[in-house]
Amino acid sequence: MFNLHDLSYEELGNLLSDLNQPKFRLGQLYDALTLYKSPSHISNIPKSLIDTLSKNYVFQPIEIYRQLKSSDGTMKFLYKLTDGNIIEGVLMKYKYGNTLCVSTQVGCRMGCKFCASTLGGLIRNLTSGEILSQVLCVNALLGGTKEKRQITNVVLMGSGEPLDNYDNVVKFLRCVSDEHGINISQRNISLSTCGLVDKIDKLREENLQITLTISLHAPNDEIRRQTMPIANRYSIKQIMDSAKAYFKKTKRRIVFEYALIEGKNDSFENADELAGLMKGFSNHVNLIPLNEVKERGLKGTNRHRAYAFMDRLKSHGVSATIRRTMGEDIEGACGQLRAKVLKETQ
Ligand code: SAH
Repeated sequence: MFNLHDLSYEELGNLLSDLNQPKFRLGQLYDALTLYKSPSHISNIPKSLIDTLSKNYVFQPIEIYRQLKSSDGTMKFLYKLTDGNIIEGVLMKYKYGNTLCVSTQVGCRMGCKFCASTLGGLIRNLTSGEILSQVLCVNALLGGTKEKRQITNVVLMGSGEPLDNYDNVVKFLRCVSDEHGINISQRNISLSTCGLVDKIDKLREENLQITLTISLHAPNDEIRRQTMPIANRYSIKQIMDSAKAYFKKTKRRIVFEYALIEGKNDSFENADELAGLMKGFSNHVNLIPLNEVKERGLKGTNRHRAYAFMDRLKSHGVSATIRRTMGEDIEGACGQLRAKVLKETQ
């Protein structure tokens, strides 16, 4: 079975014309898919066509399996995929709108020492439609429509390394921002990567307006290698060169994520070295005191020290903020999402 959501607007148009459907059917079907409707809830399309499509295609490739609500209003969703795998997502409510954090893989193979998503390794890539469905499904759940979206921002910061699933992720980015569909502005989308340099270079040429976010987490290769295996493949120098080229081409400010780990990367000396890397292009440093993951023995820097680290960066002229951590009580905070495989028989 294929997922209808894996098809772009154009591809869906080709499918319908192969089925000898009139032109207007495409808009009707794409609208229904954008509202994440099940076949039985689509009333303006002939049942015969819906039945034909249902034989070969899935209309709803993910379903919300469980919801958890944090005391700060953040919601965590467990979605069930058609093969029984479970992925997670997080909805954060801000004054300016709702941000959905989406997963791009079941599990992850990057092996970062502080992150729960990678504990069981990579199980599989998500298709573009499975990524898109996370947005459409939660938008529908919140009563959103195409005209009045309930999801205004998307961050590719759930489980998985987006650039390790490059083709599906780029297709997702184009579909989620397609004017015929939910049409979320690319400027409201952030893609976070642990720094796959060859893929950042490729992404630079895709003509996208998204914000590129790079998980740096260390001011030099020696420290980075202690927590991020990818540092053995690419040096910080290579990452910074690639980031600068990305900025030059897209004119989009680059965001760097820096999780503060007690005694590892949070000294003033570390801040000074980090500030040195930020020279010469438009960027921003997002500091996050490390969230604890039970299986990992690393501790987050305390608030007081985190502020001192930020002030030190600012004294060098670096733009920096400390990210508010949200949803920690439901394991919905950064690095706490993990792949779960459903044990129950379906
Ligand atoms: N693989 C991508 C996407 C994950 S995004 C990436 O590496 O960027 C999730 C963000 O949370 C990344 O910046 C990641 O490094 C960070 N993160 C992971 N574990 C964390 C933890 N325990 N505390 C705080 N941030 C963490």
